[in-house]
Amino acid sequence: MKIVLASNNRKKLGELDAILAPLGWELVPQGQLGVAEADEPHCTFVENALAKARHASRMTGLPALADDSGLCVDAFGGAPGVQSARYAGEPRSDARNNLKLLAELGDNCQRTARFVSVIVFVRHADDPQPIIAEGEWEGEILPEGRGDDGFGYDPVFYLRELDRTAAELDAAEKNRRSHRGQALAHLVERLQSRR
Ligand code: IMP
Repeated sequence: MKIVLASNNRKKLGELDAILAPLGWELVPQGQLGVAEADEPHCTFVENALAKARHASRMTGLPALADDSGLCVDAFGGAPGVQSARYAGEPRSDARNNLKLLAELGDNCQRTARFVSVIVFVRHADDPQPIIAEGEWEGEILPEGRGDDGFGYDPVFYLRELDRTAAELDAAEKNRRSHRGQALAHLVERLQSRR
């Protein structure tokens, strides 16, 4: 089944593809179909994911999958949250986002945070029953980054039980543990039980 993916993030596409290819899903990034990014005006992940999925489906006539995700830091009341990609402003830069996060957190001893992913699947643009799947991944923010894999805030996201950051995990291990991996597992369960 051909599905339009409401994202052009190559790293995200790789993570989603690895999990969905065995189901026979062919994910096509919306950019390849000439679809511009939808606005993300909402203050919750679920509203933004739904808006992105409906937009991609409306523009292509295909079923659509969208992921809205971000980092929620407890000391900041959940920020940067839906603003994670552009936390340090435009143009978007993972390096500047991480520098800003570390500067604002300073030596605060409350360093707990979680990645959140909400994945939405719509069969068509006006689907009244979208599938909505969520995942969370708990960690702590290190005072400085470690590791070269992954993307975004992975180098500063520390997993105490592994004594590694998300950027020190290989792709398969990250997929097994991550917020997006968990959300996708829920999505697959829901799809398989749908008549
Ligand atoms: P989105 O494309 O609007 O969902 O933006 C998500 C942003 O959240 C990304 O640009 C990253 O800054 C951050 N993010 C989401 N998932 C991850 C992850 O798995 N690792 C690191 N950063 C992530």
